[in-house]
Amino acid sequence: MKEYQHILLAVDFSEHGDYVAEKAKSLAFKYQSKLSIIHVLDNIPMPDTSYGTLIALDQDSGYELLEAEKIKLKQLGQYLGVAIDQQYLVWGIPKQEIIAFANEQQADLIVLGSHGRHGLALLLGSTVNAVLHHALCDVMAVRLPLA
Ligand code: AMP
Repeated sequence: MKEYQHILLAVDFSEHGDYVAEKAKSLAFKYQSKLSIIHVLDNIPMPDTSYGTLIALDQDSGYELLEAEKIKLKQLGQYLGVAIDQQYLVWGIPKQEIIAFANEQQADLIVLGSHGRHGLALLLGSTVNAVLHHALCDVMAVRLPLA
């Protein structure tokens, strides 16, 4: 297997997300790769924000729902030992933003869960399915239990 230099972990903070995160962390350790985390905001309204907008983590927006998402991301980053400048919060459609971001940042492996918030009724979730088919780099879908 080729060595990975930049692993991108995509998180939606759904159940079992920690298991996916642990996998990404151990792969990053194994390959001594850079590890970045992306969370795409698609579940809270963000008026006047265009898709692909990167949300600053170090400025208080005064918007409670957004600040709650930032806290979750920062806590995960701290737990995984990922520096704040490698934690990304982006507004948009998850599958599109994950793929675009991986291309921009030259990630060579995307790690995500086989299911998340959108995929419980499907064989593979809709986000992971699109990423598997359209990403230009390798993709690891970490198998998660359905329940
Ligand atoms: P889904 O295909 O939407 O059921 O989700 C499968 C996996 O895609 C999840 O376990 C996450 O790893 C990733 N994912 C889904 N939604 C998002 C999101 N909004 N931001 C980042 N990653 C996501």
